[in-house]
Amino acid sequence: MRILVLGGDGYLGWPTALHLSQCGHEVAVADNFVRRQYDLELGVDSLVPIESLHTRVTAWQERTGKTIEMFIGDLTDADFTYEMIREFRPDAVVHFAEQRAAPYSMIDRKHAVYTQTNNVVGTLNLLYAIAEIDPEIHLVKLGTMGEYGTPNIDIEEGWLELEHKGRKDRVLYPKRPGSFYHLSKVHDSHNMEFACRIWGLRATDLNQGVVYGQETPETTLDDRLATRFDYDAVFGTVLNRFVIQAVLGHPLTVYGSGTQTRGIIDIRDTVRCIQLACENPAERGEFRVFNQMTESMSVRDIAATVSESFPGEVTIDNLDNPRVEKEEHYYKVTHTGLVELGLVPHMLSDTLITSLFDVAKRHVDRVREAALMPGVNWRSPGAERTSER
Ligand code: NAD
Repeated sequence: MRILVLGGDGYLGWPTALHLSQCGHEVAVADNFVRRQYDLELGVDSLVPIESLHTRVTAWQERTGKTIEMFIGDLTDADFTYEMIREFRPDAVVHFAEQRAAPYSMIDRKHAVYTQTNNVVGTLNLLYAIAEIDPEIHLVKLGTMGEYGTPNIDIEEGWLELEHKGRKDRVLYPKRPGSFYHLSKVHDSHNMEFACRIWGLRATDLNQGVVYGQETPETTLDDRLATRFDYDAVFGTVLNRFVIQAVLGHPLTVYGSGTQTRGIIDIRDTVRCIQLACENPAERGEFRVFNQMTESMSVRDIAATVSESFPGEVTIDNLDNPRVEKEEHYYKVTHTGLVELGLVPHMLSDTLITSLFDVAKRHVDRVREAALMPGVNWRSPGAERTSER
């Protein structure tokens, strides 16, 4: 298949591009490098050094003989998006190219507006480009489990069978997300469902859990193929951040009681899920949703697992929760769709965590410790002037 990976310079886009290329697909990547720009803005950097996209692509060719084409540009630029689709003519487009940090979207008005404009407009341009150029193209779009929030009923895969006053319908599962970033994904999901319904597009929305891990079989072929490893309080996902805190001898920063439960997934399963979704496309007119997570854990249990695996002293600090979220809640998620397509999940294990400790130890001198503490508070909408100075 010809597969275009949007956001192919990011934490997940890069290893996914390599995996799809290794599976024998013709792969191209697109990115505008804004993720690298956020690092400059926040004064942080990936713990593991990452090469430029050009060097990465060259290294992949040297190692495997396989080529990956590059498109450099911004999805919110419709001309760029249309030209890229026309030129590459993909069978599937995998769309990772969004601003993905909830805390970043909650810094202030400017960051909330940026996040929603970047994400919603980029996806809308893409939907139009596919509809006008080739509606056969399968859109595989990354959503998030955070779209659902923590409802007091079981979370289904995108749709809900409903009976109301004696009548039945199948409706999009009601969403109650916890940040302007998560809301941007909800808006995307609605736009995609609408495009499938009116234009007969085919789309798969992958509501992904929090990803952990940093290595896949392809990224470890060469240091130049490494993907990002973020530890800061804005972009660092929870387990990766705890690993680095343990290595530094810092307390693991658990927000509030830590009883908040979330869906999680190993990065090796992320790349496999994308492959399965591409190779088993949705039907024309179908808006298909999978919950891309393999297990649920509370933040407190994730901290305990990291602490038990670490060969040394680890303390846990319960900070005042900077987010507005329920700490005690029901959480039961259906996530069978990808398993039915062939996913054999990696469950969180000591081996994985130990290998992450090794990665973190190798680069520990690159940590900027101040970046570990949360600086964004959900309850302060007026922080804008500070950040604009
Ligand atoms: P990332 O920030 O590392 O990668 C996203 C990439 O997209 C970056 O390289 C960025 O430069 C690029 N990008 C952003 N806006 C763009 C635009 N307008 N035009 C072109 N390129 C643009 O993020 P990630 O962790 O790899 O996440 C990828 C996707 O998966 C995101 O959509 C995210 O919401 C979703 N997701 C991630 C996680 C996780 O734990 N990392 C969990 C659930 C869902």
